[in-house]
Amino acid sequence: MAHIVILGAGLGGMPAAYELREALDRKHDITVVNAEEHFQFVPSLPWLAVGWRKREDIILPLAPILERHGIRFIAGAVEKIHPGDNRLELQGGREVRYDYLVIATGVRFVFEDVPGLGPDRGHTQWIGSADYAERCYADVRKLIADPGPVLVGGVQYASCFGPAYEYAAILDTVLRQHHVRDRVPMTFVTSEPYIGHLGIGGVGDTKGIVEHEFRDRHIKWITNAKVTKIEPGKLFAEEVDSKGQVADRHELAFKHAMFLPAFRGIEPVATVEGLANPKGLVIVDEHQRNPKYPNVYAVGACIALPPVDPTPVPTGPPKTGYMIETMVTAAVNNIRAELTGGVPSAQATWNAFCIADFGDTGMVFIAQPQMPPRNVTWSAAGRWAHWAKIAFEKYFMRKMRKGVTEPIFEKWAMKLLGLARLKP
Ligand SMILES: Cc1cc2nc3c(=O)[nH]c(=O)nc-3n(C[C@H](O)[C@H](O)[C@H](O)COP(=O)(O)OP(=O)(O)OC[C@H]3O[C@@H](n4cnc5c(N)ncnc54)[C@H](O)[C@@H]3O)c2cc1C
Repeated sequence: MAHIVILGAGLGGMPAAYELREALDRKHDITVVNAEEHFQFVPSLPWLAVGWRKREDIILPLAPILERHGIRFIAGAVEKIHPGDNRLELQGGREVRYDYLVIATGVRFVFEDVPGLGPDRGHTQWIGSADYAERCYADVRKLIADPGPVLVGGVQYASCFGPAYEYAAILDTVLRQHHVRDRVPMTFVTSEPYIGHLGIGGVGDTKGIVEHEFRDRHIKWITNAKVTKIEPGKLFAEEVDSKGQVADRHELAFKHAMFLPAFRGIEPVATVEGLANPKGLVIVDEHQRNPKYPNVYAVGACIALPPVDPTPVPTGPPKTGYMIETMVTAAVNNIRAELTGGVPSAQATWNAFCIADFGDTGMVFIAQPQMPPRNVTWSAAGRWAHWAKIAFEKYFMRKMRKGVTEPIFEKWAMKLLGLARLKP
């Protein structure tokens, strides 16, 4: 009998728990440890940040849904991982031992590198958690009552640009609905070398689609931007040329600003030698296993990816939802193989299938694999994509309540789109 512990109950950890329960004999125990008592559906946070969702619409209490499916749950933040000793140390001194560990802890938001960045000690909003998104919504209400300039974007070393684009377009829609958009100049300030680059050199025509969307919505943009500091109501940025030399300096006034920070690994992961890279992200091989501690697997935003082409201002590649699910399926197959006398051989495809909402329109793209060079790239935009994102939210939340990850019809639908979770 083995004890498998999943650390983190987000977009990676929850499917990992359900897939493991389905794949493994019931004699093996599965435990999920999560800092919070609830699951939050992160892709809906831009909607929470403008009041289109309430917190209770996009969170689920973990204990009842996991325990109903034969999975134990412990609410508590892990403070230390002792992979040499196969144990976790939780806040308050509790210890949890494991035979296999699946790390799915997401990322730490790095505000401290840019003076004045972030909602805790700075002057900009962020929408990366339900708490932050609710604070953002309070600021949006102030903006509607007293309109003024808006800045949205991503700072240097940011890697998950999708939510910033979504937020800019969704906020534009909200401001138009309140008939105040004519008093709100909007500028998108990004470290990407061009609009729609997304940290991965774009996908299909994402450059054209997003530029078109921004032109249509009168959102100006500044690319290759390095944010140097943020003061109350004022952002300072350097714009660099293709060689990284400063070509222009900007001082931009704002009433409301939402900026994507850089991401690094959480401290309990970052501080274990051999487990994480210098950014604190978990080092994994092609089977999602850590080379130094082979009974430790990792999935989701917490893993280290190989470097992509450098950009004049540093950016990074995102870890998107479907890509994360492919990592989960590979990790689960490999743990099952180990427990049944086999050897890990499953490899995730790291394919990306993303829907970005723009408030009243949207964009969908497929990248196989997510990182260039690719076999397939496709992108399209339209009103239908907005509805597709809403449908996806309902579908994913239902799957998390029901304890399923990839029902057979989903497998077939993905096959029709040419997407698979595992490499053949
Ligand atoms: C605002 C936003 C919107 C996004 N929208 C999309 C989208 O539309 N489509 C898409 O494909 N991708 C999207 N992404 C990217 C990606 O899919 C998400 O970041 C996704 O949530 C990552 O999943 P994860 O499981 O790795 O991390 P998370 O979902 O962040 O889960 C991590 C879990 O670990 C727990 N945890 C952290 N530290 C500890 C600790 N010390 N002890 C115990 N538990 C801990 C947390 O409480 C959390 O439950 C978005 C990202 C952001 C930030």
